[in-house]
Amino acid sequence: MSQPKGHPSSMPPLTEAEKQIILGKGTERPFTGRYWNTFDKGVYVCRQCGSPLYLSDSKFHSNCGWPSFDNEIPGAVKRQKDADGMRTEILCAHCGAHLGHVFLGEGLTAKDTRHCVNSASLVFMPASQAPPEKAIFAGGCFWGVEHYFRQVPGVLAVRSGYTGGTVDMPTYEQVCTGKTGHAEAVEIIFDSKRTSYEALARLFFEIHDPTTVDRQGPDVGAQYRSAVFYLNGDQKRTAEKLIGLLRQRGYKVATQVVPASTFWPAEEYHQDYLAKHPGRADCHVRVERFGLP
Ligand SMILES: [Zn+2]
Repeated sequence: MSQPKGHPSSMPPLTEAEKQIILGKGTERPFTGRYWNTFDKGVYVCRQCGSPLYLSDSKFHSNCGWPSFDNEIPGAVKRQKDADGMRTEILCAHCGAHLGHVFLGEGLTAKDTRHCVNSASLVFMPASQAPPEKAIFAGGCFWGVEHYFRQVPGVLAVRSGYTGGTVDMPTYEQVCTGKTGHAEAVEIIFDSKRTSYEALARLFFEIHDPTTVDRQGPDVGAQYRSAVFYLNGDQKRTAEKLIGLLRQRGYKVATQVVPASTFWPAEEYHQDYLAKHPGRADCHVRVERFGLP
């Protein structure tokens, strides 16, 4: 299965052997994959698109020769009947990569479920190397901002939401009035061993226009303001340094640098919106404002 249009993978190209499994719905030989007998703490992500699929806590010894999990990260895995109607295939809900099959009623764990997954469909990201870090940026309509950050290697999860306002649990309709003070924003959880706050902040300044006040393209209002919501002093200094670099290059940067406050996740239909609506044009276009290093 090919990836959704307009949603290129952040992962390295698949090898021929991986293609046979991920695209061709093949099965690796038992006891040959990288992960059939690994139990380190961390998260297993999709080999094709990098989406988090399984936490190590759900992995168990099944002795079947393939990685076995009794639970997926909510919403990460979709199920469909095989063509012969016998078994139930599992696929990455984000990109459609073939993972393996799911079996119920075997009585192996309390959840009575075994996701039998090809190692080749997975990449393990150990949790012990670095605790995940968080970043919050507002750069206009969160659909486009989320879309870009989802593609960055090392980004573990991205949520669209609202922050910087005065009302608890705001709805999209409330935020759209511009009266709650919230900005449309994205919350990014990332592995600091694989990417850095500075790399994400640089991308942030290149995928939205940091020079317009309370506006991104056709979207006008304070909820579309450009803002960095920093979570610590290092993030604040990094944001200010990058704004300084942009000002040296002649950009009249309007981005606010303000302390993070409560991040309220947006309604489910806003999450990963552009991947769910592949025909929809992205309002964000990357401009290389920092130039080459
Ligand atoms: Zn995927």
